[in-house]
Amino acid sequence: MATPTDAAVVWNSALLDYDLGGSHPLNPVRLDLTIRLASELGVLDGVSLLVPEQAPEAELLRVHSQDYLDAVKRAPGEPFDVGHGLGTDDNPVFENMHSAASLVAGSSLLAARQIASGVTKRAVNIAGGLHHAMRDTAAGFCIYNDCSIAISWLLDNGFDRIAYIDTDVHHGDGVQAAFYDDPRVLTISLHQHPMTLWPGTGTPSETGGDNAQGGSVNVALPPMTSDAGWLRAFDAVVPSLLGAFQPQLLVTQCGVDTHRDDPLADLALTVDGHRAIYQRLRDLAEHHAGGNWLALGGGGYQLVKVVPRSWTHLLATALGADIAPDTPMPQGWLRAVRAAAPQLELPPTLSDGGDPTCQPWGGDSEHRVDEAITSTRRAVFPLHGLDPDDPRD
Ligand SMILES: [Zn+2]
Repeated sequence: MATPTDAAVVWNSALLDYDLGGSHPLNPVRLDLTIRLASELGVLDGVSLLVPEQAPEAELLRVHSQDYLDAVKRAPGEPFDVGHGLGTDDNPVFENMHSAASLVAGSSLLAARQIASGVTKRAVNIAGGLHHAMRDTAAGFCIYNDCSIAISWLLDNGFDRIAYIDTDVHHGDGVQAAFYDDPRVLTISLHQHPMTLWPGTGTPSETGGDNAQGGSVNVALPPMTSDAGWLRAFDAVVPSLLGAFQPQLLVTQCGVDTHRDDPLADLALTVDGHRAIYQRLRDLAEHHAGGNWLALGGGGYQLVKVVPRSWTHLLATALGADIAPDTPMPQGWLRAVRAAAPQLELPPTLSDGGDPTCQPWGGDSEHRVDEAITSTRRAVFPLHGLDPDDPRD
């Protein structure tokens, strides 16, 4: 077996073809600007980028129906409604949508294969994280659920216990649904409370099917939760569960629509909070999963000011080359963005000046996220042999 490299990164510009068009919020420019920023800062120096490849149909069928795949392929040439959630405002039909979505899924599979084969312990696909796609329907900008496809493949290729952690502001409903009754997969989603945000699922009471009680974990955070509150909730829930579950690998959906400037949701994190999240995910992979970490992208609709900086931190963290928050934005990147969008006010550094320190939860209810913490702990901790009321657990 080769000596593991620090991390594998899957990327080329073909991934920009997943383009829902017009003024759709999921504009692939965010990926292009991320790679440009990371490159200019030297984050990708010496990293050989893996060339994306399409997932074969057999792999898509792990989590999607043949009917649905046929509808996705047929939709661009079909004058009538093909159903399956396609052709809506959220999931408009676009030319080559099957091949573009297959490329995203294949890229997450390629990243997964790097870990399974021992080439690397950490792998990143920032174009992935399409966590809302369901077996038979497109949903929430997601055509094929690359997260679920990669997890399913890993379960057939040497991994029996996989923890999926979803930090997107929206509930990771598609992945939860795919493995709801599978005791080999622990899904943990932290998100804005479903009473206040689409898709309206992800309450603590969703704990898994009969064969996997406790295998689905949901932390429903109140609107305006900040870095300190989000991290307090994460720390009070996630490490204990990983310690009990003992995964062999972490798969994480790293959506950044939790940011205070994101136009689609109402949490209030900063890129400094995001950076702290990535460092926690890396540490947890080291302590609980043999260092194995498959990091995928996700939501994030502040295309220029937030996503590129946050995911540059993600790439740097995965590559073990953390970037100081006060690092100035490189002039070349600023010039290119100003030329394309002169009216935009651009951040001067890779920081928002956020403070990612937090007070650990102590079993009390002092902070506004503590109700969310106790609801989740009481719903699932006993199912893992943990005491929900004891902050040492
Ligand atoms: Zn989202």
